[in-house]
Amino acid sequence: MATTPHRDIGLYVHIPFCKQRCHFCAFYLEVAGPERMRSFCTALAQEILLHRQDGLVGPRALRSIYFGGGTPTALPAAQLVSLLQLIQEAWPTESSVEITVEAHPSTVRPTDLHMLADAGFNRISFGAESMDERDFTRIGRPGRVQDTGTAVLAARAAGFTNINLDLMYGLPGQSLASWTETVQSLLTLEPTHVSCYALTIEEGTTLAENIARNVVPQLDETLQIDMESAAESLLKESGFDRYEISNYAKPGFLCSHNLLYWTDGDYLGLGPSSQSYVNGIRFGTVPNLTAYTEDLNRGRLPIAERIALSDAEQQRDALVFGLRRMEGIPRHLLRPDMPQHQALVQLSRHGMIEYHDDYIRLTAQGRRYADSVAEELY
Ligand code: SF4
Repeated sequence: MATTPHRDIGLYVHIPFCKQRCHFCAFYLEVAGPERMRSFCTALAQEILLHRQDGLVGPRALRSIYFGGGTPTALPAAQLVSLLQLIQEAWPTESSVEITVEAHPSTVRPTDLHMLADAGFNRISFGAESMDERDFTRIGRPGRVQDTGTAVLAARAAGFTNINLDLMYGLPGQSLASWTETVQSLLTLEPTHVSCYALTIEEGTTLAENIARNVVPQLDETLQIDMESAAESLLKESGFDRYEISNYAKPGFLCSHNLLYWTDGDYLGLGPSSQSYVNGIRFGTVPNLTAYTEDLNRGRLPIAERIALSDAEQQRDALVFGLRRMEGIPRHLLRPDMPQHQALVQLSRHGMIEYHDDYIRLTAQGRRYADSVAEELY
């Protein structure tokens, strides 16, 4: 797979704060007060400056800016706006730049949403997770189901026309019927994009502990597969196109930022625990807010590890991530000398990959075991 020297590039900003930690969540974050948030914002401003000076992005205009977390809207809207302005002063942006902010439906007020939309945020992604409040209790997610509908209406009133809603399926105690009702209820809110993530059990989380203590039942893989199929049918009936394993969009509303991950694009990550891939180099920022701020206060980038990938490794990664897209990988991009050919043939024999005239892609089975497919290709 040929690599492009100056690939499209986007920016990811990790805001490491939440009101409380949900039982299943393993993201790097803190439950912190205003002072900690202020010192984080000061450090982040310094990180933007240092990356501007190191010239990694070069003359490229940003295709996307994505504030994720954590819960970005745990920060005051005025702070998010200031950070966005700093980024826009540091780097040019494409005229069609997509600027996303993730939000918890219970942490946004109409005035905040207006401020964000007026400042240039043009996509908002709400972590709805479920439309059945019993699920919230079981996964330790704060808030009420009605907050999601209220937040979507408020976002639309503020000017957001591109609204994503995240859902999770395979939750403890969730049935196929309750999941189907969740998807149907979500669709009445008329989002432009929906992400459906299968629950996974992450080591060290409260959920993993609860399962180990038999307080919560083990995941039911067969039920998760039925839920995935039900969601796909309902979303397709409502005009959504499934374009990646977990992502569905109305025409014209594919997420530009996430597409960078799956189309061999570059991305620069800011904030503790963020990951970057720029000019063939992968690097991560320290997953520790104290170390992060200390490094930046001393004028150095808090980079934890840096790996320069060989051409072959870059091609392998482009293959692995590209296969997550429903349309797969154009066959002409698979170079004859790639060592993955044999593994691909084996995966095809096991019904995980299908070869077409012009492209290869994951089968339905392959999508369900995408992580195992990736392991075979490494
Ligand atoms: S709101 Fe999202 S980021 Fe925060 S703890 Fe819950 S799942 Fe994790």
